[in-house]
Amino acid sequence: MTDTIPYRGRLAPSPTGLLHLGHARTFWIAAQRARERGGTLILRNEDLDSQRCRAEFVHAMYEDLRWLGIAWSEGPDCGGPFGPYSQSERHQLYLAAWQKLRDAGAIYPCTCSRKDVSQAAGAPNEGDDEPLYPGTCRSKSPPLPEKTRREWGTQISGANWRFRVPDGEEICFADLHLGPQSFIAGRDFGDFIIWRRDDVPAYQLAVVVDDTAMQITEVVRGADLLKSTARQLLLCRALDISPPDYYHCSLVRDDAGLRLAKRHDALSIRNLRELGWTPEQVRGKT
Ligand code: GLU
Repeated sequence: MTDTIPYRGRLAPSPTGLLHLGHARTFWIAAQRARERGGTLILRNEDLDSQRCRAEFVHAMYEDLRWLGIAWSEGPDCGGPFGPYSQSERHQLYLAAWQKLRDAGAIYPCTCSRKDVSQAAGAPNEGDDEPLYPGTCRSKSPPLPEKTRREWGTQISGANWRFRVPDGEEICFADLHLGPQSFIAGRDFGDFIIWRRDDVPAYQLAVVVDDTAMQITEVVRGADLLKSTARQLLLCRALDISPPDYYHCSLVRDDAGLRLAKRHDALSIRNLRELGWTPEQVRGKT
């Protein structure tokens, strides 16, 4: 990205629980970076997973972010030129990307169960929620001629769709905070899911489609997503998209050294607020 393009950043929380101290720190950095660059900050509600997302958490996230002193100028609550800003309303865009990937032979349907994958993969990949896929269905689905791919088109649901990663290729990027990063496809992560068998687009696909459609120039998020960035760079390449810049924030850890998750209700922004913390204390020193 060149400096001549106006800065557009985003906050992309998933309403699956209360936002915690880690989110506060990351979102505050995102807001500061947009402000310092005279840019635009967007709020995107990442509510794709209807099983896990709840309306009460959407309201809580608006309120907690405002209490922290973060303001956005485009979002589900205030609209904007790139709406809708809730992922649950953007299905057609994801579907178009799925079609493009399918037509290019970049993805294949996978009928393995979660259990099949975890048993074949042994221990889940460290610190990552998606185990390395052993490639069972990949070998059944070599890049296929156009006719067969068209037949797949009628069967989007009922199978997980996986992106065929280029085994052994080193995926490098320069993180604006953490410096040079490198991951090996097929070793650090395997063929990842881009569309779930319950007909829900996966995070990796949705985020690439939305960051592009919303003309995001810089993605600020937690360092737990570094490996996902490598995956997303592959998706960008397959979709012929020029990726944004990336700034991954260091993670806030709990007393045991574990990264914070939404189960850490004690460290939720609202709990800290009730305990008398000020917005400055929750935002931390940046
Ligand atoms: N919605 C994702 C989450 O809450 C973050 C997505 C991103 O920043 O790319 O973990």
